[in-house]
Amino acid sequence: MEKENDITKEPVRCVKGVGPKIAALFRQKGLNTIEDLCYFLPNRYVDKRVIKKIREVTEGENALIVAKVVTSRPVYFPRARRRAFEATVQDETGSLTLRWFHVVLPYLKGLCTKDNILLLSGKVTRFGRNMQMVHPEAVLLENVAELEELQGIIPVYPEINGLKQGTLRIIIKQAFINYGKCLRSIIPTVLENSLTIKRFKEALVKLHCPDETIINFETRQDYINRLIFEEYLLFQTSLLMKKRYVKQGKGIFFVNNGAYRKKFETGLSFELTNAQRKVIREIEEDMGSWSPMNRLLQGDVGSGKTVCAIASSCIAIDNGYQVAFMAPTEILAEQQYLTIHKFFDNMGLAVSYLRGNMGKERSSIIDSIKTGIIKVVVGTHALLQDDVEFNKLGLVIIDEQHRFGVMQRKIIKQKGPCPDTLVMTATPIPRTLSMVIYGDLDVSVINEMPAGRQKIWTKVFFDGENQTAFKLVEEELKSGGQAFIVYPLVEESQKVDLLNAKNMAMLLQKTVFCDRKVGLLHGRMKSDEKEKVMVLFQKRLIDVLVCTTVIEVGIDIPNATIIVIEHSERFGLSQLHQLRGRVGRGLKQSKCILVASEKLTAIAKQRLRVMEKTTDGFQIAEEDMRLRGPGEMFGLKQSGIPDFRLGNLVRDGDIMTNAKKTAEQILSKLSSKELNQIKERAEQKWGDSVNLSEIA
Ligand code: ADP
Ligand code: MG
Repeated sequence: MEKENDITKEPVRCVKGVGPKIAALFRQKGLNTIEDLCYFLPNRYVDKRVIKKIREVTEGENALIVAKVVTSRPVYFPRARRRAFEATVQDETGSLTLRWFHVVLPYLKGLCTKDNILLLSGKVTRFGRNMQMVHPEAVLLENVAELEELQGIIPVYPEINGLKQGTLRIIIKQAFINYGKCLRSIIPTVLENSLTIKRFKEALVKLHCPDETIINFETRQDYINRLIFEEYLLFQTSLLMKKRYVKQGKGIFFVNNGAYRKKFETGLSFELTNAQRKVIREIEEDMGSWSPMNRLLQGDVGSGKTVCAIASSCIAIDNGYQVAFMAPTEILAEQQYLTIHKFFDNMGLAVSYLRGNMGKERSSIIDSIKTGIIKVVVGTHALLQDDVEFNKLGLVIIDEQHRFGVMQRKIIKQKGPCPDTLVMTATPIPRTLSMVIYGDLDVSVINEMPAGRQKIWTKVFFDGENQTAFKLVEEELKSGGQAFIVYPLVEESQKVDLLNAKNMAMLLQKTVFCDRKVGLLHGRMKSDEKEKVMVLFQKRLIDVLVCTTVIEVGIDIPNATIIVIEHSERFGLSQLHQLRGRVGRGLKQSKCILVASEKLTAIAKQRLRVMEKTTDGFQIAEEDMRLRGPGEMFGLKQSGIPDFRLGNLVRDGDIMTNAKKTAEQILSKLSSKELNQIKERAEQKWGDSVNLSEIA
């Protein structure tokens, strides 16, 4: 019983046979605890019953043999300019040559040291008079006796430098046999039996102490998937606990048939899209219940999220509550303010705007927020200040939520007794990822653009075609448009040979665009400098804005009709999509030109072509995740994607979906002791990234 809680922390040193030296080797592989060892799975299995003698193998057969190294040598074929490595091995019946062509010399030299005993599998072919195996899979054995003791199916573990397979196998087996019983599913056995999944225990046993069924690839994958499922289930169950915990709180029950809500649609100059209607319905359901709303609204730039936010504001106001709408920068906040203000102004309701450094005006605004005269206030971080007090805050809306920290989101919520919250983001992410990052929120998606929106014409150009790109820019300028030109670097770098914004701004101003006003915007500028440039651009006092990726998400410059992105191969697809979203916000057809290096591989070129084919942010995000993995995707680095031991979000999305469903099925069936254990384990594993600490 005592061991039960500890196995996750107990160091590998506790296993018999593991001294400081071996422990260090394990550490290099990220194996620190006994639990780590138990989850370190074989990547291959060898069926000992099919091991043959060298004399028995025939040409063309996929054979498994055990043989001793006699000689080995690197070889060089001058005509083919090819390096290779050869070894001769033998058993008591004959000898065979091994050949490798992509040579990792130190590794092969070590493997093929004279007298080493190798377990070899591969296709046997004829080479002149001799038999050979090209690129065999080889496992170094301790001695012949080692194999004789083993029977049936032998697990082969991923290589750990400096550790022989036999030693590794014995240690892991030790660990598993002595401690494996402490590894338990988070699902109690009775419950596990009622679900149509493999048994957790059985999966572990089969993988470490295999029988012949494991040779079948699908059977083996089923067992591995069970372990992945287990980990995802732990994760999803703990998120669900957090979600339920938040929902238990007593929120506000909003009635949604008030005057503003009714007038809302007549106040719009357009028809809502179906996606917007659906989202508004979801918000209404949340608001019309006692549990506090915790909803995330995901939708591409321009998909019309703000309108949904206005609809929910109407409901809050109808019920006599105030609304706080927070955006991460002044430009964005002001933009939102103008939209919201215009809408409510038509209905005869005042909206306030609060930002930093406001001077005298500030105190009167603060007063009217406190007394409740002001119903809707839009602002930046300025809303977070202590002296901003609400009379009756019922709804908090946060735009570009990932730009705020957990603390900041908490502070604004604490300005009301238990306000409903709607957070918004213009960074579409794949569903699998959303289940992980936003698992504790209810997610709404706007996956449809308002009718009549023109697709942004997108084209990949190669190096030589820069001048053509600039000609297209000039055409846009001539017809009254403005342009963005994006570079990957702020200034010259000694490390990489890439164009940079500073130099190019100067150069373009002197040459191609000498008759135009060229501006510069990059991340090393102070934020008020940046704002100044953006305002100049907004007012059309700048024609061409040379910049890095700092241009705001969500910034609305309807007059900008072309964006050129240099070295576009350096950016992720999601990021390119975000950048492209800076244009195409007005009525005119906009253009996006992706300049890339001619030297790109076919795959890299194909990747960029995705941008030519689609403007659907979710589709692009899926593709991006598939190509680069979830960790590298735009803007997600900070959000902390939890580490999964065996699971891979790109590959195992379906398992995550199942885990989520199962979590919902089982949560109410778990005892409070079991729930506590789940919480503890999840916290220990992913503490920071999933913020389970918010559970009081
Ligand atoms: P987001 O916040 O998602 O980037 P906005 O809410 O700012 O998008 O909307 C972008 C533009 O589209 C705004 O000018 C808005 O008035 C307009 N818009 C929103 N919904 C619709 C719709 N259903 N039909 C036409 N135009 C719309
Ligand atoms: Mg918006």
